[in-house]
Formats: sequence, structure tokens, C-alpha cells
Amino acid sequence: SNYCAPSGLISDAHCDFETVERINTDISPKLHELIKTDFFKYYKLNLFKECPFWTENGQCMNRACSVETMNKSDVPEIYKSDVLGALHTSPAGLLFRPFEKCEFTDRDFCVVEDENDVEGVFVNLQDNPERFTGYAGPSAGRVWKSIYEENCFNVAQRLDPSRKNKLTSSLSVCKNQLSNIMLGHDQTDYGNDNDEVCFEKRVYYRLISGLHSSISIHICDEYLNQTTGEWGPNLDCFTSRIGSHPERIQNIYFDYVILLRAISKMSHYLKEYEFCAGGDKNEDLRIKDMVTELVNAVTSCPRTFNEKLMFASEDSRLLKEEFKNRFRNVSRIMDCVGCDKCRLWGKLQITGIGTALKILFSYDDEYLDPHVNSNLLTRTEIVALFNTFNRFSESISAIERFRRLYRESMKVQ
Ligand code: FAD
Repeated sequence: SNYCAPSGLISDAHCDFETVERINTDISPKLHELIKTDFFKYYKLNLFKECPFWTENGQCMNRACSVETMNKSDVPEIYKSDVLGALHTSPAGLLFRPFEKCEFTDRDFCVVEDENDVEGVFVNLQDNPERFTGYAGPSAGRVWKSIYEENCFNVAQRLDPSRKNKLTSSLSVCKNQLSNIMLGHDQTDYGNDNDEVCFEKRVYYRLISGLHSSISIHICDEYLNQTTGEWGPNLDCFTSRIGSHPERIQNIYFDYVILLRAISKMSHYLKEYEFCAGGDKNEDLRIKDMVTELVNAVTSCPRTFNEKLMFASEDSRLLKEEFKNRFRNVSRIMDCVGCDKCRLWGKLQITGIGTALKILFSYDDEYLDPHVNSNLLTRTEIVALFNTFNRFSESISAIERFRRLYRESMKVQ
């Protein structure tokens, strides 16, 4: 049955499904409490950037698509850009803003929200849960298709000289495969054809597919029954979108494993980080204790992923650059999502995954010493990382709940 608990090793990872579920049972209540705190629930982002790739006119007008933004007066002073600006003022003077024109630094795997952006708005993530919004159809399909198309790497093929001349044709095959999936002509997802697909490219695909699965699970878990007006889990939705595709389930666990490994690698830094919650020192300490407890639980787990196997060959510098650029493009594609609420969570989660990738692939272990390098991550990145981790954690809990619902539904028949 499709609803057997998955077991055995998660492919491309160093960890099995059972371990992830055990870790998640321990971690999820801690994570859930942490993201309710002021430090983790206020997120600043620009929701109004234009779609840089096409004219997007599929704006979702449903109430469920809208985002409740915060009044400036409700935002703790410490997070406002004028205060942040003051904190970050360089000794070179107020006019010195080296990265102002830059959307990302060389190490970033995504376009990181600029905390000083005057067009940025604050949202309380707790007031804007990711769930069913009704956003669907060609606009949503086009965004997913474009995101998967970023997986058509050039460099992977270029690395193997015997395939050099096949570059154009393999790219068009790649795009054709994608079109078939999007049109529903193909039962298997793109990326299952592991032959000839290099590890890095598979990782890229699995991260995206896992995010897609996770978003679908939240839609099905908090589904609006349009007849009764009630919100609740929808087993049919889960069965058709996720339950009947074991690969899609596995990819959620894969994202989880990557996020877990990134937090584990960053553990010393995170334990030393100053979490300012807006003036209340006791609250700051409470958050610090919660983070420490969570990070200790994460580091007590066995290593879940070996990042040193990625970009390991001598000529993989170009591949790493392309991987980074394609991931950055995904964050730009998120500006094309025609539903504000979906865009908010899409952008946040790509930032969360991008932050994990930056931790894993841009910093050597020695570099992570908080006393030597205290500004490795911005508040935006830390908030995105933990909220994204929480979303995947909730997906894994939801998979277990849907499994129980399925068993109950079988008994009734
Ligand atoms: P889609 O989910 O649109 O998928 C398109 C095609 O991709 C499928 O036909 C299938 O072939 C393939 N596919 C599906 N899942 C996977 C997978 N895991 N791995 C590989 N291939 C796959 N809607 C909401 O209600 N709430 C939200 O918060 C929300 N957030 C969104 C965020 C983003 C960034 C985007 C692009 C869309 C979001 N949507 C949201 C819309 C939602 O994701 C779906 O697009 C919509 O519900 C229509 O679903 P669908 O069944 O037609 O297939």
C-alpha cells in the first residue's frame, strides 16, 4: 500500500526514515514553541517586486490569498530598518553601503531580503499560516514549471567532454520531459531517471520537489471545504498529490535531512548568537535557551548528510556556481507567484533552504567560529531557516497523521 510507513535509507542521505521520524517527534514541539517568539515570528520582505521573467496577471483575488501586514507601530523598534541601519553603520560613515546595490553576496544561494528595503513590509508569520488558498491553474503551473526548468544544468553536461555536442539536444529533452509532467502526460516525476544525472543535479531536484511536496501537504492538511466552510485535513487531496508518489514523500525527508545537517553544522554559532526580542532581556535569554535546547537535540543525532561529497571533484567549481545561480533564479521566480500568501511562504522557504545551502557549501568548518566571524547570517536568514525547518517538521508530522487517517478509512470500508 502507498500508506505503509516509509522505511530504510533515504537515498543520497546518511539517514533512514525511522531516524528522521524519531528525531522529529523530539524536536517538533521545541521548534513549534520557538517560532512563536517575537524574534522568529516577525519577518520583513518585499512582497511587491515585479516578476522579472514574464508579465504576471494571474493575481489571486481570494481573501485566503492575502497577507496581513503589520502596522509599523506594532513592529518592535529593534527590527525597524532605521534602527538596523544604525546598528550596521560602517566606520566608513553613513554613506558607505557596500552591498546596497547587490541582491546577494558571493556566498549566497538565494536573493536574500534586504532588511533596509524601504518597500519591505513586516508580517507576523503566525497570523498568516501557509495553507489552502485556492491559488491554482496556469499561473501556479507556470511558476512550478519554471522552477523545475532551472534544473536543466549546462555545466553537468559540459563536465563530460564526450557529451559536449549533445548539450543542446539534452537541454531540449530536459524541457520536453518537464512539459509532459506539467501537462500530466507522465506518471513519474522528472528526476526519477537517475541514470546520467549527477549527484548535485539530483540534490537540486530533490530539494525543489521536496518543497513542492511540503507545500502540497500543508494545502491538504489545512484544506477549506468550500461547502461547509470548515478547515481540516483532506485525505483525498493528500492521496492524489503526495501519498501515491513515494518519491515525493522521500524528497520531503531529504529537505529535512539537509536542514538538520545545516543547523547541526552551525550549532556553535547559533548557541552564541544574540537573539534580541525587542528590549526584554528575560525574553532574549528565554529564546537563547530554547535555541540551545533545540540545537543540542539536533546535534545529538547522527550525521544525516555528508556535504563534503557535493562539488567534490576538481572541476566542480563551475558546477557549484551554476547551482548557486539557478537557486538564486528560483528566488526571483518566486516574485512571479500570483498569490501574496503563497509568495510570502515561497520566498521565505527558498531563503531557508538557500541559507542551509550557504551554511553547507560556502563556509568551511573553521570559519563558523562565532567569536571570529560574528556576522555570518542575517536575522532574516536565521528566521527563514528555522521557520522553513518548522514547515518541513510539520509536513512529517502530517504524513504520520494522514497515515493514521488512511488506516481508519480502510477499517470503515
Ligand atoms: P501542482 O502542485 O501545481 O503541480 C504541477 C505539476 O507538478 C503536477 O501536475 C505534477 O506533475 C508535478 N508535481 C507535483 N508535485 C510534485 C513534486 N512534489 N515533485 C515533483 N513534481 C511534482 N496553493 C495554496 O493553496 N496554498 C499555498 O500556500 C500555495 N503556495 C504556493 C507556493 C508556490 C511557490 C507556488 C508556485 C504555488 C503555490 N500554491 C499554493 C499553488 C499549489 O502549489 C498548486 O500549484 C495548486 O494547488 C494546483 O495544484 P495541482 O494539483 O494542479 O498541481
